[in-house]
Amino acid sequence: TSTPVADKEKEKEPVVVLVIGMAGSGKTTLMQRLNSYLHSKDKPPYILNLDPAVSHMPYAANIDIRDTVDYKEVMKQYNLGPNGGIMTALNLFTTKFDQVLGFVEKRAQTVDYVLVDTPGQIEIFTWSASGAIITDAIASSLPTCVAYVIDTPRTTSPATFMSNMLYACSILYKTRLPFILVFNKIDVEPHDFAIDWMKDFEAFQAALEERGRDENGESYMNSLMGSMCLVLEEFYNNLRAVGVSAMTGAGMKEFFNAVEECRQEYLKDY
Ligand code: GDP
Ligand code: MG
Repeated sequence: TSTPVADKEKEKEPVVVLVIGMAGSGKTTLMQRLNSYLHSKDKPPYILNLDPAVSHMPYAANIDIRDTVDYKEVMKQYNLGPNGGIMTALNLFTTKFDQVLGFVEKRAQTVDYVLVDTPGQIEIFTWSASGAIITDAIASSLPTCVAYVIDTPRTTSPATFMSNMLYACSILYKTRLPFILVFNKIDVEPHDFAIDWMKDFEAFQAALEERGRDENGESYMNSLMGSMCLVLEEFYNNLRAVGVSAMTGAGMKEFFNAVEECRQEYLKDY
């Protein structure tokens, strides 16, 4: 339905990378790394910080939620705990998100990448109305993908790996956006084991069952695991996986290749 001219316009648009992941997986450190990598290349990215509670931000954001809302004030005013404060701060910010998007769109022709950092606790973004509203608003305006950051050294046990992949799968399902699994901290633990498990689900199932036998003999667990492995096999078909170190800068080229694939997927499918 779009004209060739409109397609040309689309190609000039930047890709938005939503950086999502469990607390401590390294989202903010990765933001800093991506930022410095792009600075060393040609064009600096446009950066949004959506974490109201980040205490040390190692990069400069173009738009920072903390400039609009002070979550500690929100906590006091509404008599909330930290998570309630962060959630409410995000809700308040979301009411202004059309303006934020306006700023991003104004700069859209001059940048190649828009990077978005999200709150430390993953569910504040992935299981809130605000997170969904912000994601939809961005994704309906510009090519968008999700970079799901994984703490590789902490996901070497098959059961943790399974949980983390199922969580990632739920985010893919909710957002339906082009998706990258970003195995971070490969300076501490290479992600080869993860790639092996993703390629060969029988090997993964064997690793899981090994553990299942140690802890309980329930056979329904084994059959549940078998089913979940099949779900994940299907999930893996729909995404890309890269290993990076936000600390050392390893894997940046692979990361941006994956983002480029995501841009193509978005332009084709959305
Ligand atoms: P966030 O909560 O997802 O934003 O995580 P942070 O970026 O704040 O990082 C959490 C911790 O992991 C910090 O202590 C970082 O220094 C550390 N970290 C992040 N990326 C890496 C990495 O690639 N390698 C190593 N060794 N540590 C990392
Ligand atoms: Mg962070």
